[in-house]
Amino acid sequence: KTNLIWFRNDLRIMDNPALEKACEDKDASVIGLYIATPQQWKAHDMSARQACFIHDRLIQLQDELDALNIPLLFHSCDSFTDCVNVIVDLCKEYSVNQIFYNNQYEYNERERDYLLKGKLSPDIECLEFDGNLFTAPLTILNSQKQMYKIFTPFRNAFLDQFVQNIPRIYNQPKAIKKTKIKTHKIPEFDYAKQDYEFFNPNTQKALQKLEEFCAEKVEDYADKRNIPSLDHTSQLSAYLALGVLSVRQCFHYLTQEHPHFWENQKSGAFTWFNELIWREFYQHLIVAHPYLCKHKPFINWTDHVKWKNNKDHFEQWKAGNTGYPIIDAAMRQLNQTGWMHNRLRMIIASFLVKDLLIDWRWGEQYFMSQLTDGDLAANNGGWQWAASTGTDSTPYFRIFNPTTQGKRFDPKGEFIRQWIPELAKVPDKFIHEPQLWSEKKGNITEYPQPIVTHDIAKKKL
Ligand code: FAD
Repeated sequence: KTNLIWFRNDLRIMDNPALEKACEDKDASVIGLYIATPQQWKAHDMSARQACFIHDRLIQLQDELDALNIPLLFHSCDSFTDCVNVIVDLCKEYSVNQIFYNNQYEYNERERDYLLKGKLSPDIECLEFDGNLFTAPLTILNSQKQMYKIFTPFRNAFLDQFVQNIPRIYNQPKAIKKTKIKTHKIPEFDYAKQDYEFFNPNTQKALQKLEEFCAEKVEDYADKRNIPSLDHTSQLSAYLALGVLSVRQCFHYLTQEHPHFWENQKSGAFTWFNELIWREFYQHLIVAHPYLCKHKPFINWTDHVKWKNNKDHFEQWKAGNTGYPIIDAAMRQLNQTGWMHNRLRMIIASFLVKDLLIDWRWGEQYFMSQLTDGDLAANNGGWQWAASTGTDSTPYFRIFNPTTQGKRFDPKGEFIRQWIPELAKVPDKFIHEPQLWSEKKGNITEYPQPIVTHDIAKKKL
C-alpha cells in the first residue's frame, strides 16, 4: 500500500493531521509531495520573498521527513491544472492508493482539488483535513444556518463551540518503514530572489519564537500591540500563512503559560487569541463567499465607486514618499523587510483608499507582491475592512487622519526615525509634520511635501 501526502500550505510535520493519518497504517509506504507553481503564483501576485521562504522551508521539511523515512518528491509546473496531471501520473508510477492533504480555501485551490478528485481513478481515495484552522469552514453558522457577516457574533459562537471541544494537537509521526523511493533535490524556483526578514525556515526557531512570545510578551499584548516601535506583536504571520506553525500549536503554547485565559477577555492572552479568531473568520468567509477571491467587494454596491486612481500618487504611496511620515515609514518597512505592523497596515490602507481615492484592489495587490506573510483571506479581509467595502467595515465616512494616528501610536516618532533617515534630526514636536519645521527654521530637507491635504481629501469623499 502506498499513501501520498501532498504538502501545500502546511509545511510542517508537527500537528499535521494529513501527515499523521497518512502514517497511521504501519504497512503502508508514505511518499511526500510538493508541487511549485511559479507561473500561477505570479498570476496571484505572490511575492518573491514568500517564494524564497517556501523554497528554504522545503529544504528543512525534506530533512525532517527524511528522518521519518518519508521521501519528499518535488515537481514544478505552470498551473494548478498541470498539478492535477502531475499527481495523476505519480499515482500510476508509484501505485498510490490514498492521497492525504490539508485543505486550502481559496477559489482556485478548491477548483484544483475538485478537478483532481474527478480525474483520479475511482480506486484512489482523497482524504482531506482542516489542518490549518481550529474549525472547518461552514461549521460556525448563525440561526439561519449562514456564515456570520460580522466578527463579534462569529467570535462568540466560535468560543462557545471551542471551549466545549478544545482541539488536540496531532502527533508527529514515528519513523515508518524505509522505501526505495529517492527524495528529490529541491531546485531554485523560477522566481526572482529576495531576502525576507523576521522569519526563519527552521522549525525549532519558529517554535522558539512562539514559546518566547507566549512566555514574555503576550501578557502586555493588549496594551502594547498598537505601538509599532515596540515590536510587541508575535511576528508569526508568515509561519501561520505557510503552515510552518499551526493555530493549534499557538493555542497549546498559550494555555501552557496562561491556562483558561479565555475566562478573562481583557487579558493579553485573550486579545492575542482574538486575532487568531480574526484569521479564522476571514478563512471561513472566503469559503462562504467565493467571489471574494475574484476581486469582488463583500458589499456589492461598492463595486460602483468611481476611484480617482492617480498613478503618480500610487507610485508615491508605494515608495513611501507621500509626505506623511507615518505612512512613509510604514511603506518603507514593508518594502525593505516584507512585513508591516498591523496598526500601520490599517493606517496606510485607509490613506490609499480614502485620502488618495485609489481602488483598494491596487493596494491589496501591492501588499501581496511584497509581504512574506501574504495570505489571500487575511489580506483581502484587511483591505476591504479599511476600504469600507467588507464585513465589519469602518463606516465609509470614518477616515484615519494619518497625522493624528502617527501622534497617537508613535508619539516621539521612534518608528518614523527608524525608517526615514531624512527626518532623524527633526524635533519630536514636529516629527509628524516636518514641513512646519522646515518652514519655521528655513531648513531644506529631502523629505517631500504632502501629496494631498488630508482635510481636503476628507471633504471629497
Ligand atoms: P499578531 O498580532 O501577533 O497576531 C497573531 C496572528 O493572528 C497573526 O500572525 C495572523 O496570523 C493573525 N492575525 C492577526 N491579525 C489579523 C487580522 N486582522 N486578520 C487576519 N489574521 C490576523 N495578515 C496576514 O497574515 N497576511 C496578510 O496578507 C495580511 N494582510 C493584511 C492587510 C491589511 C490591509 C490589514 C489591515 C491586515 C492584514 N493582515 C494580514 C492582518 C495582520 O495585519 C497581520 O496578520 C499581522 O500584522 C501579522 O503580524 P503578527 O504575526 O505580529 O500578528
